[in-house]
Amino acid sequence: MASSPDDLKARLHGLLSEFQAKIERAHTEQELRKVFADYGGSQGAIRVAQKDALKEAPNAEKKAIGQLSNAVVAEVERALEGRLAALHEAERRRDLERTVDVSLPGRVRRLGHLHPTTLVRREIEQIFAQLGFTVAEGPQIETDFHNFEALAMPKDHPARDMQDTFYIEGEPELVLRTHTSPVQIRTMLSGPPPIRIIAPGPVYRKDDDPTHSPMFNQVEGLCVDEGITFADLKGVLLHFAKRFFGEEWGVRLRPSFFPFTEPSAEIDFTCAFCAGSGCRTCKGSGWIEIGGAGMVDPEVFAHVGYDPERYTGFAFGWGLDRMAMLRYHIDDIKLFFDGDVRFARQFK
Ligand SMILES: [Zn+2]
Repeated sequence: MASSPDDLKARLHGLLSEFQAKIERAHTEQELRKVFADYGGSQGAIRVAQKDALKEAPNAEKKAIGQLSNAVVAEVERALEGRLAALHEAERRRDLERTVDVSLPGRVRRLGHLHPTTLVRREIEQIFAQLGFTVAEGPQIETDFHNFEALAMPKDHPARDMQDTFYIEGEPELVLRTHTSPVQIRTMLSGPPPIRIIAPGPVYRKDDDPTHSPMFNQVEGLCVDEGITFADLKGVLLHFAKRFFGEEWGVRLRPSFFPFTEPSAEIDFTCAFCAGSGCRTCKGSGWIEIGGAGMVDPEVFAHVGYDPERYTGFAFGWGLDRMAMLRYHIDDIKLFFDGDVRFARQFK
C-alpha cells in the first residue's frame, strides 16, 4: 500500500497512464464520461488512492498528498476536455463532408417546363380574357343532369352514344364528365345573363387510339346576352384564330348537329401544317377541323330558367391537346400523357 508521497506518486502515475490509454480507445462522449468517472470522479480510482495514502501518512505529509491528488485529477479533467473537443470536431467534420464537398463541381439545376397543353391553355385564356371572357371551372365527376339532361340529351337520346361514357360504379347518376359543357350549365344556373365564360379542363371518354385518349382536355366558350347572333360567334372565332395562329388565318363553319346547339357547325381553321396551301394532313383542302360550335338551343335555356325569347347565345368548344398538337406539330396525343420529361422539356 502507498505509504508515502513517493509511493502515491507512483500509483497515481500508473492510474493516469491507464486513464489515458482508456480514453484513447473511447469513441463516444458517453464512453469518455464513464472512463472519467472511473478515475477522476469522486468515487474514482485517484480519490481511492488518495484516501488510502492519507490513512497511513503522518500529518506533515497530508497536505502534499492532497495537492498531488488534486493535480492528477486536474490533469485527468484536462485530458477529458481535450478528447471531448476532438470528438466533437470529428463529428462536425463528418457532417460537413457529408453535405458539402467544396471541391466537387457545381450541380446544374434544371428548370421545370410547362406542359404544352398548359402553355396552350394559358394562351387561349389570355386571348379570351381580352374579349371579356372569364375562366369557369366545374367538377370532373358530374351528375347525369349536368352532363346530359340539361344539355338536351335525355336518357333515350341517341346523341349519348356519340360520347361513350365512364359511369361511377354503383352510382348510375354520376359520370366522369364527357365534355366541359356541364360547366356552362352550372354557370347559367348560378345567375342571369350576360355571361361570357371559357371552361378549360379534363374530360373522359371510352376512346383509346393514336388520336384519341380516354382522358383529354377541352376548352369551351359560352356567351349569352340579348341580341347575340351567329355573326358574333364567327367574329369571336376568327379573332381567336388570327391571334393564336396568325393574321392570315381563316375560319370556316360547316353545318353539323349537336344536341345542345341549334343551328350547329363544325369549326375548321386554316391548316396549321401547310398554312392553307394543302397537304397530307388536311387531305389537300387547306382546312383542319378544330371543334364544334352553335347557337345555344332554347331547350337548354329552359333547363336553366333563361327566357329564350329575350336571350340568345353561342357556344363553342375544342380539344386543348389537339390545339397544342396543331401549334407544335405533334402527331401522337399519347405523348401528352406519358409524363416523359424529355417531351415536356422541348417546350419553352
Ligand atoms: Zn394542310
